Amino acid sequence: MLVLLEKGVSEGVVNDVAVRLRMLGLAVHRTDHDGSVRLGAVGDGVPVDWDQVRKWTGIRAVEPIPVPFKLVSRAFHPQPTLISVGRCTIGSDQLVLMAGPCSIESETQAFTVAAAVAKAGATVMRGGAYKPRTSPYSFQGLGEEGLKLLRRAADAHGLAVVSEVLDTQLVPQVARYADVLQVGARNMQNFALLREVARAGKPVLLKRGLAATIEEWLMSAEHLLSQGNAQVILCERGIRTFETYTRNTLDLNAVPVVKELSHLPVIVDPSHGTGIRDKVAPMARAAIAAGADGLIVEVHHDPERALSDGAQSLYPEQFRELVDQIRTIAGVLGRSVAAAR
Ligand code: PEP
Ligand code: MN
Repeated sequence: MLVLLEKGVSEGVVNDVAVRLRMLGLAVHRTDHDGSVRLGAVGDGVPVDWDQVRKWTGIRAVEPIPVPFKLVSRAFHPQPTLISVGRCTIGSDQLVLMAGPCSIESETQAFTVAAAVAKAGATVMRGGAYKPRTSPYSFQGLGEEGLKLLRRAADAHGLAVVSEVLDTQLVPQVARYADVLQVGARNMQNFALLREVARAGKPVLLKRGLAATIEEWLMSAEHLLSQGNAQVILCERGIRTFETYTRNTLDLNAVPVVKELSHLPVIVDPSHGTGIRDKVAPMARAAIAAGADGLIVEVHHDPERALSDGAQSLYPEQFRELVDQIRTIAGVLGRSVAAAR
């Protein structure tokens, strides 16, 4: 339920209402909008006499939240959520560009790619140290060594860091090096992982599962918010369809749909979304045109020799060109991209 308080009520009244709702067995989450306090009172199967609650001091209205993803919904939180990562405020007019290799492979690779993506205008460096690979015989990532290289390379060029956490036990380690914790497509419904990642208190990049509906994806985000972490960036990365020419089918419908349903920022991954280098830029441009809050793009200085996802990795020069185009599209939409360094 959405419990709307009267404008100008004291913090004491807000507290009293929150405490009483908690005593009824509900979890209470607060948001402030337009000068009034809104409390999301959530909990399944708790019988509450809402007509009684309506009579409490300070209550303006009590309304149901008409979707299952309560805290993620615009009904609870009408204004967009802004998430500060490095030099960028994600969800604002400023588009976030995250770029880097699929996997961190070596010092030379990490530093070369960091220099290139920073110069082009990215503000966040991506790079996997723990990789979810379909084959157990494929490169699994450098582990903590990879995180160290990623952090050093990013720091050398003023970039923030996003990296995937594969496992609950790895959350503290990845959180030591990364500014944003990535939950991969394969783990979107790993609820134990979502709980641990939420509790790390850092922004989370939540990728859409390969076969997840938009509602399932938003419910996974709800797991994070219900654990008290509202810094969630949603990432559309393509879904599994009957189409086989591309690696996945990039569902750009999801961008305007999610923007309407939720206050959370949405970014797009055209690299995994297409799997084909020369299809990445057109879909990246389309994603921004569709209203995405940014992009996460795989870039490699020597993709022919990449240990993972070389076929979908842009050359640095292609990324630079793409960012220039994104700047133009951003201008049309009244948005901007951080200055190149
Ligand atoms: C990745 O970002 O390298 C990755 C493995 O992504 P996804 O979880 O979307 O497949
Ligand atoms: Mn990849």
